[in-house]
Amino acid sequence: MIAEVIVDVSAYPIDRPFDYLVPASITAVIEVGSRVKVPFGPRKVLGYIIGLKEESELDRSKLKPIDELIDLEPVISTELLNLSKWLATHTLAYEIDALQVMLPAAMRAKYEKVIVVDELEQIEDEAFKRFLAGRKRIPLKEAEASGLLTTVKDYVKQGIITVDTAIRQQTAVKKVRMIQIADKETLETLLASIQQNAKKQMELMNWMIEHAGETISAKQLMEQSGIQAAILKAVIEKGAATEELAEVYREPELPQLKDTAIPVRLTEEQAVALARITDSFDKRKPETFLLHGITGSGKTEVYLRAIKHVLDQGKEAIVLVPEISLTPQMTARFKERFGPLVAVMHSGLSSGEKFDEWRKIQRGEVKVVVGARSAIFAPFENIGLIILDEEHESTYKQEDTPRYHARDVAIKRSEYYNCPVILGSATPSLESYARASKGVYSLLTLSKRAKDQELPAVTVVDMREELRNGNRSMFSLPLADAVRIRLEKGEQTVLFLNKRGFSSFVLCRDCGTVVECPNCDISLTYHRANERLKCHYCGHEERVPLQCPQCESEHIRFFGTGTQKAQEEIAKLFPEARVIRMDVDTTRQKGAHERLLRQFSEGQADILLGTQMIAKGLDFPNITLVGVLAADTTLHLADFRAAEKTFQLMTQVSGRAGRHDLAGEVFIQTYTPEHYAIELSKAQHYEPFYQLEMAARRQYGYPPYFYVTLVQFTHEDLLKVADYAEKGTRFLKEHLSQHTVIIGPTASAISRVNNRYRYQCLIKYKKEPKLTETLQQLIKIYRTDWIKSGLIMTVDVEPASIF
Ligand code: ADP
Ligand code: ZN
Ligand code: ZN
Repeated sequence: MIAEVIVDVSAYPIDRPFDYLVPASITAVIEVGSRVKVPFGPRKVLGYIIGLKEESELDRSKLKPIDELIDLEPVISTELLNLSKWLATHTLAYEIDALQVMLPAAMRAKYEKVIVVDELEQIEDEAFKRFLAGRKRIPLKEAEASGLLTTVKDYVKQGIITVDTAIRQQTAVKKVRMIQIADKETLETLLASIQQNAKKQMELMNWMIEHAGETISAKQLMEQSGIQAAILKAVIEKGAATEELAEVYREPELPQLKDTAIPVRLTEEQAVALARITDSFDKRKPETFLLHGITGSGKTEVYLRAIKHVLDQGKEAIVLVPEISLTPQMTARFKERFGPLVAVMHSGLSSGEKFDEWRKIQRGEVKVVVGARSAIFAPFENIGLIILDEEHESTYKQEDTPRYHARDVAIKRSEYYNCPVILGSATPSLESYARASKGVYSLLTLSKRAKDQELPAVTVVDMREELRNGNRSMFSLPLADAVRIRLEKGEQTVLFLNKRGFSSFVLCRDCGTVVECPNCDISLTYHRANERLKCHYCGHEERVPLQCPQCESEHIRFFGTGTQKAQEEIAKLFPEARVIRMDVDTTRQKGAHERLLRQFSEGQADILLGTQMIAKGLDFPNITLVGVLAADTTLHLADFRAAEKTFQLMTQVSGRAGRHDLAGEVFIQTYTPEHYAIELSKAQHYEPFYQLEMAARRQYGYPPYFYVTLVQFTHEDLLKVADYAEKGTRFLKEHLSQHTVIIGPTASAISRVNNRYRYQCLIKYKKEPKLTETLQQLIKIYRTDWIKSGLIMTVDVEPASIF
């Protein structure tokens, strides 16, 4: 038998499966979708079996045999294998990358170098002999740690030892020692035979007699009996108990949350939407719904009921939520309804925890998975419904290879399982809404809030006016007054600062110099906590300079409106307020996000100040005021989606106020109050916004009128990158159709990152049948030739942003 194997070597110019002989010993058990260890050149690498056959086109004698079969059961189903092929073609990625993205990190290979000693007798160096201690294979890392690398090198030169690359399997399965305590009779007999001076042993035996016949983890046993491991070991050896390793799941910690009442009656709009979805499911139609519902209209309730319907028919459901909305509050709503049938997958989990959740799905122990983007690959085999909440979110597009969009994958999987997809949003992406208008998706609308609450009253504050009146603070007078009223009434305020591209930087007041990263063409961000400047692109860090590097002036200080600065202003304006700040800096620790939110929900603070991460999902009854400190920040990004993003963000943020009994109020501070994205977000007027924005997109030829594909080139050498970008662009112009527009090559908006210069070329097209093929050819030239010069070329089909 011959196996077709995709090997884990993604830098290789040739992206195709390789044939291997299947040794007789594993012929009976080998299956498509299992992982294997195979020789590849001088190395041993991990591979995935994607096919089995009798004959190879190649000469049998040239084929190498599979080294080892890693999985007895396939880890990838046929459906997912086919999906990965489609994914690789569609996103122009290596097949291996398309395969690996479907598996939890813990299952991907880790390589390590090992020292292999053939004949121990040949080793004469005393220190090295002691280190080897009779072992013939030892990780090179250990030799390195013992300072023996030079000795290793000498022996390698002499040909006495070799250094090999081995696959290290992470021991992903977590096991605990379980102790099975013997019966009472046995224990009492043993106790009698224990010597009187073994006090501790006697103590433990007495404890065990009280717990005769029980099974308990070693850890718990030691905690409860107060006995050390050595004593436990001694009595086990005497026969007082047996032990074994049992597999357990690492339960990600979930804070206890208040039960939210399950509404008894759906609103009319909800009922209509649900009926359409369940009807489509019952008819086994792969129909995509766009559920457009204003914030608080009860979209989640529709999801929950649709899932219930699907589970009742014995099927499974995938629910995707943007990473930052995947709060304990959010997941609790699913856990409350479906209890242990829910698995949660988010980036806060350790790789072991992720693996556990993945296995629960694979074994069919759960029926619903709630997770971020990659959960779209959940290894269910009986899917009845796929939901993307907040479908407009750009995080559904992966920025690294394979550059896939979860929406496309969802629809692809739904076609295989003949099941509906729900795309939900208060502010659908223009692409989706356009498709719904054309009837490609089915539009469902929730136009009223579920509990009939009013939308919050929104006031747009013109900050230019404030400045003219001499107010230089980050807080306009109306917003400051509103905060003060909340403090007096004991109600809560959320202050939102859109930090992206607008964090604090250090500026010389005399000559205007901004301190930039030496590796990237971007200003450094000021971090008050340790008085340092950091680059958010490459990680470069330095002290805050005391003098301007240009003019040596001492009037150099930080400028801008980062969250730290805002916090300081709050402290000055409202000294009595208790503030919780949530941004990348305060939430870096595992669990910090949940902790801060819990503190806020328990009323331990009056003001929650934060970045994007607080724009979503917050649903606390006591929030009656939302303030947006600077709404313009996303408006000025060099991106065709700037207005759309601003509208979405403003709508989301406003939706945080007055979701319950207390009425809400929203203040949006801006320097461009007349912009339609801000003006129309006030009353969540999606439709007019859509019309205006579509007109702009049509005028400039952007999606959804045109598709775009971005080809990016980076190199350490400016001349070289310009040269290759030119060559690449010329190639595209020569091979693509006449009506396809090719813009470039141009320097990217951020023209240098991590000492690499960046150029790009943008392809705009309505229909381009030759696109994939042409790009594949270009990639082939790059992988076989250009790459050797140090060039990195990436292709992003329908990118989330174009800078
Ligand atoms: P969305 O996801 O559209 O923002 P949610 O599903 O979070 O809205 O619903 C907003 C609030 O309304 C929640 O507190 C939810 O429990 C409540 N809710 C949803 N549907 C109903 C209903 N039919 N009757 C009463 N309350 C409802
Ligand atoms: Zn200066
Ligand atoms: Zn940098």
